[in-house]
Amino acid sequence: MSKSARVLYWFRTDLRLHDSPALQAALDLKPAALFPVWCWDPNYVYKHRVGINRFRFLLESMTDLSSNITSTQSKSQLLVVRGEPTELLPELWKRWNITHLVIEKDPSAYGRRRDRLILEAAKKSKVEVVAVQGHHLFDPEEVTKRNKGKPTMAMSTLQKIVADMGAVPKPIDAPKDLPLPKLKDSKAKNLKDTLKELAKSLDGLPHYTGKGREGPASVDLNSTELGGQRDKKVTCYDTVTGEASDLFSVPTLESLGMDRSKIRETIKGGETLALERLAKICKDAEYIATFAKPKTSPGQSAEDPSTTLMSPYLKFGCLSVRKFWWDAEEAKKKYKGGSATGPPENLNGQLLFRDMYACAEHAIGDAFQVIRGNSACRYIDWYCPTAYDKDGQVILPRPPGDAVSEARLSAYKLGQTGFPWIDALMRQLRLEGWMHHLGRHSVAAFLTRGQCWISWERGAEIFDEYLIDWDPCSNPGNWMWLSCSAFFTQYFRLYGLITFGQKYDKTGALIRKYCPELKNFPDKYIYDPFNAPKDVQQKAGCIIGKDYPFPMLDEKETKSENMQRMKICYQANLHGADKEVMNGTAEAMLRKKHGFKEPKEFDWANRPGAKIPDWAKAPEGEEHTTEGAPSGGKKGGANVKKEEEHDSDDDVLGQEDEHKEERGTKRKGATAAKSETGKNKKKK
Ligand SMILES: Cc1cc2nc3c(=O)[nH]c(=O)nc-3n(C[C@H](O)[C@H](O)[C@H](O)COP(=O)(O)OP(=O)(O)OC[C@H]3O[C@@H](n4cnc5c(N)ncnc54)[C@H](O)[C@@H]3O)c2cc1C
Repeated sequence: MSKSARVLYWFRTDLRLHDSPALQAALDLKPAALFPVWCWDPNYVYKHRVGINRFRFLLESMTDLSSNITSTQSKSQLLVVRGEPTELLPELWKRWNITHLVIEKDPSAYGRRRDRLILEAAKKSKVEVVAVQGHHLFDPEEVTKRNKGKPTMAMSTLQKIVADMGAVPKPIDAPKDLPLPKLKDSKAKNLKDTLKELAKSLDGLPHYTGKGREGPASVDLNSTELGGQRDKKVTCYDTVTGEASDLFSVPTLESLGMDRSKIRETIKGGETLALERLAKICKDAEYIATFAKPKTSPGQSAEDPSTTLMSPYLKFGCLSVRKFWWDAEEAKKKYKGGSATGPPENLNGQLLFRDMYACAEHAIGDAFQVIRGNSACRYIDWYCPTAYDKDGQVILPRPPGDAVSEARLSAYKLGQTGFPWIDALMRQLRLEGWMHHLGRHSVAAFLTRGQCWISWERGAEIFDEYLIDWDPCSNPGNWMWLSCSAFFTQYFRLYGLITFGQKYDKTGALIRKYCPELKNFPDKYIYDPFNAPKDVQQKAGCIIGKDYPFPMLDEKETKSENMQRMKICYQANLHGADKEVMNGTAEAMLRKKHGFKEPKEFDWANRPGAKIPDWAKAPEGEEHTTEGAPSGGKKGGANVKKEEEHDSDDDVLGQEDEHKEERGTKRKGATAAKSETGKNKKKK
């Protein structure tokens, strides 16, 4: 401990003051000065897919954090600087006489890569780095070490490891005071003066002009040309410290080249709202104690969710996961109504899933986001896979795959597949940035092994862009699960495109909300309006094929074809790091084995539907057309089962699968252990 410590506290994954072990570690140094910094990293602006809603939520969370800092210390605020952290932070610690850099550990592959560079620079400058885990229940680094460097591919594996790591640490309160962010020779009397002095100390620093340290220099993954949501120029890097009238302030959405009118701001960011929400949920002891994920409904919107909707707050660290865990435990104690649910279906189980994916990602690294090179991921010859050049670098923009799959992918992204359940969910995602877990199950299975046979990498990319709660571990992890590429193997279990949603809500409220062009259909046809007689369509004011698209494929036919393919792929037992995948011969090999080539043509008469609301249409320049889409086939011939013929045997209740997988893992211990080695050998 040193009275003369001068701390740069760098906020990244922890936009909160309550229960922050890293912030506590900074305060334990009893510093003479503490600079609460957020560095607006261009790698996230340009090189990660981030849509309007996630940036908006982040900016709101930063604003809330800043005001919470000021409430704790009236002469301080969040100091937002704009630039590449590996270049800018060394300048800050030089000019502000920093002795310690304190951070919450960012366990993601990108975070670790960036932090290695920061650590090297700090070492050179003799700045001591204190990195503390606080983003997960358990430290992914420690879990991976205890798992001998292997990924945690089952909940039971994680549970076994953490059983020896002690209880989840109890949360700590927010600090009551914070040291001032003052220069050594500061004369500042108030916050305004302090900010002026700090800005002056950074005079002469060039403003950032690049597009991030990683990937091709000129590529902006969020530009509309690459399918993103940025249609204007980025201006937030025009200065290092923000506008002179509002120094070190949180940037605006507009300065990121994004237009908020294209989204619905349903889920608001910030620690304050996160804590309010948690307190409200935990007041209902019965809800907490009897929470069973498979029984929650994907048919409810974010305004009235059946799950906690805490994921966006956990993603940005507005809420401490340890506080969530312990507040839920406390709430459970108050429940007098009988036995409580247990993991994995209860809330603690949900939080453990989050840790399981984080630990798996920690072991695999960057390859966790893709198939090639990912030893945990089964290789399946999906359409539209990520493309690589001869040096193994990802080609951007991705060269298009076959025309039918590309057209299906774009219809899927826009929520115009002709299947109301899928379309409502995808529009909810694009508009509001969130979807219930079982909705995510439905759309992920549909895109991959269920119907479209399109790579989970493409689905994960769409989620990367639109989800507020996007997480580099949970997103690819769950996509691998749903596509039966890893974690889960029961590929014969699927989600009916009509029947699954009906199970939860026969009235189709979610569809009526997000597909308003269908809102006047009677309950009987709301999930399959294409089966409604013409007079019913006329009465509903929506003619299928004119006002709303025909289904873009045949559910039954694609399901049965894909099942056959999955069987062959499972028999081949190739994984992402196998030589056939690395040298590019795996696809032809599997196609030869199962005999399916490109997707079959299907009649997409009269697309897109004219009554699709403006917000659900493609952004300008990115219109979804029938160009490249197949023609011919049966006229308007969606060979979709009629309601009375629905066979719901193959529908499953989402995470019930997960429990089955758990049980299966126990029963088939040897097989599971083998697949967890990450060196999945082909069957002889
Ligand atoms: C294809 C697919 C992609 C997904 N991508 C993400 C993602 O990018 N980020 C993300 O946080 N979750 C992701 N999930 C997991 C899950 O859908 C969300 O965490 C959950 O829907 C968030 O809503 P909630 O907070 O109401 O969850 P609740 O049911 O209330 O659960 C509480 C918390 O537990 C965690 N959690 C619950 N289920 C899971 C799970 N299966 N995996 C990991 N954590 C879980 C979340 O942090 C969540 O906030 C994905 C699921 C699927 C099927």
